[in-house]
Amino acid sequence: AAKEAGRGRWRSYSHELGDANRRRLSIEQGLRSAIDNGEISLHWQPKLDLQSGKITGAEALMRWHHPELGAISPMEFIPIAEQCGLIDSLDIWALTEACRAGTKELAGLTIAVNVSASQLQFGEYLHHLKQVLRSSGIAPEKLELELTESVLIEDADKAMTVLNDIRSTGVRLALDDFGTGYSSLSYLRRFPFDTLKIDRSFVTELLTKQDARAIVRMIADLAKELGKRTVCEGVESDEQLQLVRAAGCHEIQGYLISPPCPLAAFPHELDAQLRARLLAAAGTP
Ligand code: C2E
Ligand code: MG
Ligand code: MG
Ligand code: MG
Repeated sequence: AAKEAGRGRWRSYSHELGDANRRRLSIEQGLRSAIDNGEISLHWQPKLDLQSGKITGAEALMRWHHPELGAISPMEFIPIAEQCGLIDSLDIWALTEACRAGTKELAGLTIAVNVSASQLQFGEYLHHLKQVLRSSGIAPEKLELELTESVLIEDADKAMTVLNDIRSTGVRLALDDFGTGYSSLSYLRRFPFDTLKIDRSFVTELLTKQDARAIVRMIADLAKELGKRTVCEGVESDEQLQLVRAAGCHEIQGYLISPPCPLAAFPHELDAQLRARLLAAAGTP
């Protein structure tokens, strides 16, 4: 009987494996034509400046609607795109579309675009970036590129050169998901990042874990000492907002303000109810 059960388990396991492989293959194949088929779009998530109480920025987040599989999360398709060499064209598409919106519907806001670390391993990126800056006419200081710590680990010297070149165009650099990677603190000093985005995992545990609160405060203090700005990701509640503000973070992003949404639904102003709650949570501004 045990043998039977074992065989049954194996069968369903191999089925699952088959399904997973098929899905991965469809994703990989679908990605090759997704841009040309108009299946990729951008959603936008606002950033709220805690000092002015205004929405001052917007992050572009890629969305893919697969004709058969439906909506596929970037958490699933970005790593696959990275593995099969398709990320470059996706990231350039997002950059181009984001800069266009940054001069039209989102004019006046700082536009943030995510860039995969693998992009920077090749010299091409700077060339593309300059081209997009020129063709869109966006002011370079209104554009911020979000990179994760993995960019620093792969080839730190190469990364340093590319990041300095990017920074010298006037485009800003943010370190995304900060605190989850393995970069040493000395990198913070050496690399030209303007902003640290404190990872959502710390914000999630802010109310329940003393250590998460200590880490957020420590990052905010360190950033201030180093002359960098801090953005807190994933703020969902008034209580989290209060703690993040007390820690001295500059900006917040999260479902409390708004989830990522299509351009037409982007909340340029806080609605009155949310504004009242923010005021109640802080007393300022
Ligand atoms: P990220 O850049 O760290 O983006 C933050 C993610 O957290 C987004 O997920 C966003 O929808 C989600 N989020 C924001 N606020 C909250 C909140 O209050 N609660 C919760 N639970 N989640 C929140 P999304 O859109 O699924 O993107 C996931 C990741 O995919 C991004 O993480 C980024 O690393 C990557 N990605 C997205 N678009 C692009 C792109 O154009 N290029 C590249 N290379 N990567 C991208
Ligand atoms: Mg990001
Ligand atoms: Mg992030
Ligand atoms: Mg992330």
